[in-house]
Amino acid sequence: MSILPILTYKEPVLRTKAQAVTVFDDDLATLISDMWETMRAAPGVGLAAPQIGKSIRVLVAAHQGVETAIVNPTIVEASDEERLGTEGCLSVKEFIGVNIRRKAWVVVEGCNVQGEVIRVRAEEWFARILQHEIDHLDGILFMDRLDSIEDLRLKQQPVASDTPAPEPELVPARNGASAPVGSSRKGGSSKGANPSNKSHHSKRTSGVKRSATSTNPERAKVQSRSGSRHK
Ligand SMILES: [Zn+2]
Repeated sequence: MSILPILTYKEPVLRTKAQAVTVFDDDLATLISDMWETMRAAPGVGLAAPQIGKSIRVLVAAHQGVETAIVNPTIVEASDEERLGTEGCLSVKEFIGVNIRRKAWVVVEGCNVQGEVIRVRAEEWFARILQHEIDHLDGILFMDRLDSIEDLRLKQQPVASDTPAPEPELVPARNGASAPVGSSRKGGSSKGANPSNKSHHSKRTSGVKRSATSTNPERAKVQSRSGSRHK
């Protein structure tokens, strides 16, 4: 396995719609292994193949100790409900985005490394990661999702909903879940978490190898950075 250079958003490959994978061979398995290693080393919680210069539809994502690689991912179901949250990107060193709108939950269909069809239901923070990575496969960056340029912040500046993670692919909102759309965005309650929204977690993730989807991104981040769970 190798740690590969992560390209920045100025590279054309990050603005290109990636091609579907048609061959599931050893080269693909090696690429995915390299993506895992590169993502962990960054450290980040997700990585898409275009970020390492491969314009093919492959993503890896880690959440609460579960690592999921999806080839040719497609969002086949999504909530009407949306969340506002903070995101960073391994390909965007200088900035983070706040108040980025994402679906509260999504169901993603694709293939595993062997080419077998898999279906992943993701909620809240994990759903945000998958939506961010699938955007990369379509040449879309988080900056494209901003409602206002004011929501693009220099990474060095203190940001109300930022966390001190060094170089995450995505930065979770402080206190856990992303802010619900419709909450105050500019006022004093813009930190993001709203315990009342925990009711939305009643639908548990299925199709992934875990039994619960507690939306505590801080804990997930610590786990993903600790390396203790990695093979
Ligand atoms: Zn990214």
